[in-house]
Amino acid sequence: MDKKEALKIFKETNTKLDAYRQLINLAAFDKDTIAPKKGKGERNEALTIMCGEVFSIETDKKYVEAVEYLLKKDLPLDTKREVELVYKSLEQTLKFSKEESMAFSALQMESMDAWVNGREKDDYKLFEPNLLKIIEVLKERLNRINPKKQPYEVLLDTYQEASTLKMYDNFFNKIKEDLLPLIKEVSKKEEMIDDSFLHLYYPIDKQKEFSKELLKYLNFNKGWSMLSETEHPYTTEISENDCRITTHYYENDIASSIFSIIHEAGHAYYDHQVAHKYQKGSLKSGISMGMHESQSRFNENYLAKRKSFWVKLYPKLQKLFPENLKDITLDQFVLAINKSVPSFIRTEADELTYPIHVLIRYEIEKGIFDGSIDTSKLSEIWNQKYKEYLGLEVKKDSQGILQDIHWSDGSFGYFPTYALGSAIGAQLLKKMEKELDIDQLLIDNKYSVIQKWLKDKVQQYGALYTYDEILKMVTGKKFSADYYTKYLTNKYKKLYQI
Ligand code: ZN
Repeated sequence: MDKKEALKIFKETNTKLDAYRQLINLAAFDKDTIAPKKGKGERNEALTIMCGEVFSIETDKKYVEAVEYLLKKDLPLDTKREVELVYKSLEQTLKFSKEESMAFSALQMESMDAWVNGREKDDYKLFEPNLLKIIEVLKERLNRINPKKQPYEVLLDTYQEASTLKMYDNFFNKIKEDLLPLIKEVSKKEEMIDDSFLHLYYPIDKQKEFSKELLKYLNFNKGWSMLSETEHPYTTEISENDCRITTHYYENDIASSIFSIIHEAGHAYYDHQVAHKYQKGSLKSGISMGMHESQSRFNENYLAKRKSFWVKLYPKLQKLFPENLKDITLDQFVLAINKSVPSFIRTEADELTYPIHVLIRYEIEKGIFDGSIDTSKLSEIWNQKYKEYLGLEVKKDSQGILQDIHWSDGSFGYFPTYALGSAIGAQLLKKMEKELDIDQLLIDNKYSVIQKWLKDKVQQYGALYTYDEILKMVTGKKFSADYYTKYLTNKYKKLYQI
């Protein structure tokens, strides 16, 4: 095999894998959104077979040989990185047979459906056997992938390259030290901000009308994107010009669907704005989840929680819901969407208490995989931690352990990236504020200028650089959680006059 031939096999196979993945994502999105429920079983079977085909293509002898050959050759920076990322993922894939890989995909899909069912009926017991099975199988898999490494660290590295238990322990210790005392102080002043009007009756058909206005403001163009509905909001990328997001509407919570849309649009922009030349290979799929969350949470918090974001949009919201909002001023609305109060649901948590929701999941996940937590008591442990950190009594499973979809398909190690992403975003924000007049741009309906900044500085590179390298390139400094905790401390001390 020579270099030219190896590169040809490498590129052609990546393109083929991308085609399969596009259609797998499409079929899964269709299942989650519009497909009749009864067809789930057959769809899962078809998807499992497709995943088996992907496995065969990925582990094809010629492709593996080409990757191993290219790994030792001099290559341009981006191709070299692409080969390294593929090799890293292949090292894991090759530890399993096709049958094992298909069985795991089937188990994941069955378990996700069980989660949806349990959540709809608000009963953890309906989902618990699936969750325990996923944990058991995942532990065996992790031991096979790397018996020398702590299993949870293998998972952390899957979602955030080069992250370690030590790094996350330090990060969450800082969150605890800097933010828990402030959360206590702020919760004593809960009455200062009224957000009760956000929880009046908001008919869903009118919420959908507002979504259209919001998407227009976000330049979320129908040429490359679309919005649909699911139980748990998410983003899926079919291709660079087909990036889909979902939301969930609640009649008594106007903020929930709005901020889900803004968050997911941040993910979709990232998928859409990676340079075209990187779209079909591992530079696209290898982007760390922390980096992805830095962009979605940037949208959700560092932009959409500002008054300037709402100057154009709030009158439109008022017009759609005059009975609820006609006497509420823009300032009152902006205060309400920034109110901090300990709450049960992570995705709806305010910026200040949000990382505590993530901390709770981090501690539980760590305990599951180092064996210090009895998995038959997961729901009780969940509730104890909410009591300890946020002073809340969880009364319903849907408010507790059933709220997130992530564990159902074995995505342990993903949650920490939400808090890390927020912190990466805070560091980027500091730099953006020096270069752009963010408030003026938002008032002038120029959200696209902000998105272009994010594209130029971060998104276009895909997974070419690690998050630390990107931060050094953009801000001149290594990652530091200081920006994040300082931002939150300053913001909430000012807001609550502490
Ligand atoms: Zn997200």
